[in-house]
Parts: sequence; C-alpha cells; structure tokens
Amino acid sequence: MKKQIIFATGNQNKMREIREIYGDLDYEILSMKEAGIDVDIVEDGETFEDNALIKASAIAKECDAIVFADDSGLEIDYLNKEPGVYSARYMGEDTSYDIKNANLIGRLEGVPKEQRTARFVCAIAAVFPDGSHKIVRGTIEGYIGYEPAGANGFGYDPIFYVDEYGCSTAELPPEEKNKISHRGKALRMMKEELLKYEDTRN
Ligand code: IMP
Repeated sequence: MKKQIIFATGNQNKMREIREIYGDLDYEILSMKEAGIDVDIVEDGETFEDNALIKASAIAKECDAIVFADDSGLEIDYLNKEPGVYSARYMGEDTSYDIKNANLIGRLEGVPKEQRTARFVCAIAAVFPDGSHKIVRGTIEGYIGYEPAGANGFGYDPIFYVDEYGCSTAELPPEEKNKISHRGKALRMMKEELLKYEDTRN
C-alpha cells in the first residue's frame, strides 16, 4: 500500500495544489473527508503556527498516517498585522469580502504606498507517525492597493498587490499565483522536511 498523507482541508484548490507539488513523491494524498475523518477543531491559537499544529495534532490522534494542516491569512503592517489569524473571521465569517476589502482600504485612507506593506502568510504543520512534528512558514510580500482589482483568487486577493507584477493577486492567472504564493512556498518547504524525515527512517 502507498504511504499516505492526510491534508486537513476540505478545500479542493488546496488539494489540487498539494497534489501538483507532491506528485513526484510516492504518497497518496487524501483530504480529511477522503480519509473518513471528521473532527471538530477549535482554532484558538495566537499564531498561524499554533493553529496549524492544533489542527494537525487533533487529526493525527485519529489515524496512523502523516498529517498536514495549514493556517493562513493576511498581515497588514500599518494595522499592527491585522487581520492576521482572524483573517477568515474579520468583520464576521459571513461578511462578504467586498465589504471586508473596502473596510481595510478605508482604514488605510491617506496612508502612502511605503506604509501599506502587507503579506500573506501560510504556516503548515506536519505530525509524523513517530509523534514528531515540523512547522514551516511561507510568505509573499506585497502592499494594500488603493482599490480592489481582479476577479481571480479569493478572499483578500483583490486588494493585495505585488510589485513584481504591478497588479493584484486577483489579477494573476491561478498558475502564476501558485508559483509565488505563501501556500506554494510552504508546501515546497514542507516537502524538504518530509524528505528529511524519510531519510532518518532509512
Ligand atoms: P485559510 O487558513 O487558508 O483557510 O485562510 C484563512 C483566511 O485567510 C481566508 O479565509 C482568507 O480570508 C485569507 N487568505 C488566506 N490565503 C489567501 C489568499 O491566497 N488570498 C486571499 N486571501 C487569503
């Protein structure tokens, strides 16, 4: 039987991205649902890393596979790194991103470009069957624009601009965003950790 990694997400885009990046390894990658695991997890950590590890540890208790979990969000420097770990919950989970994005742009009214720096952060925690764990963090640096633009992506993508491209991440084709994204970087960093773990086992 192929070795398994369970990725603690229900998000199909994340599943596609991890399968692309880990496709050359000899692992079967399953979502929680595909693995038949259903646990309620309260993500009450203070950092992305805490939340990722809380999730991965809770699921690791339910199975013998390697478990990956991620937590991500947007940090805006001028707003003391808000919305941070509250990115999904900012202004309420059910509030539309049109409203959230307009609100954040409003809070930066009159702030010059140099002070509008921001980043997307993605922490991924892996819990291994021997009980050990590893956590990595991938980031993408950018700034909050003066107006939303673009229809690709999700969440805060329309207000997050990258200098290198001179546009928002919602204006980039998905393949282009995946190449430079916080999650893509974290997934590639975790791939190195997985290979190191494999080495210690051989
Ligand atoms: P999650 O931990 O991946 O579910 O992300 C939490 C929240 O962070 C999302 O609901 C979005 O608000 C925000 N976020 C994370 N990654 C991105 C991104 O790539 N683009 C836009 N928003 C993001």
